[in-house]
Formats: sequence, C-alpha cells, structure tokens
Amino acid sequence: MSSFCELCGRRVTDGKKTVLIDGTIFNVCLPCSKRGKPYLPAAPSKKKAISTPTSKKTNTKIKMIDDTILSPEFGTLIREARMKKGLTHEQLGIQMNEKAMLLRKFEIGALKPDEILAKKLERFLGIKLYLSVEEE
Ligand SMILES: [Zn+2]
Repeated sequence: MSSFCELCGRRVTDGKKTVLIDGTIFNVCLPCSKRGKPYLPAAPSKKKAISTPTSKKTNTKIKMIDDTILSPEFGTLIREARMKKGLTHEQLGIQMNEKAMLLRKFEIGALKPDEILAKKLERFLGIKLYLSVEEE
C-alpha cells in the first residue's frame, strides 16, 4: 500500500505519521511529522466524556434563572426599605457606590436593576427583590 505525505507530497515508504498542525490532522512523512504535534486517536473520546457534565452544568444554571424573577414591586420595595433606614437617594448611593439618579429610576420603575445591582440592593437594604417561581 503506497501513500503520500499530505504536507510535502513525497511518497512515504518508512511508515506514515499522523500529526496535528494548527488543529488539523495530517498524514505525513517522518521529516514532516516534526512540524506538528503527535495526534493521539484516544483524545476525542476523552474530550466527549468531559463535555457531558459541562452541558449538564449549563442547563442547571439556565433553570436557576428561570426559577426566579425580579419582583414587579421592586421600585416600592427599594423605596420602602431605603426610607425605613432613613437614607436619601444620595446617602444610599454613596454607601452602595452607585449613582443616586440610578436609585431614583429604580424606585419609580423607570429602570430595572440588572441581576448584579438587584443582588447588591438586596444585600444593602435587607430585602428580597427576586421571587422564586416554582411551578411544581
Ligand atoms: Zn512530508
């Protein structure tokens, strides 16, 4: 069985080598094989085994997001908690290192806090802005 090197085109007589060059598999002659990494056929099945728990982890994360929603009352919740603490928008803004204008917008419902900010508000004000939606 005669074969040719996929890199230099030379006829390979002394055993073909399978190597990886820039992620592509080449069947090459011995001198050309030094230009790539040795290709191990066992690698893909190993990779597949790793990818399964990874995708499972992703599903769990998505499910968690689906299970909680931002309370439609978030503006009222923020305002009431802030007033209970006797803080102005400015004072709370300084404490949280956020703009007072942003807090005002949340309270009137003109702006929805993103997940990071909502969690920060929950922590600073001791309130729950996320509701769990459990359909089971
Ligand atoms: Zn070659």
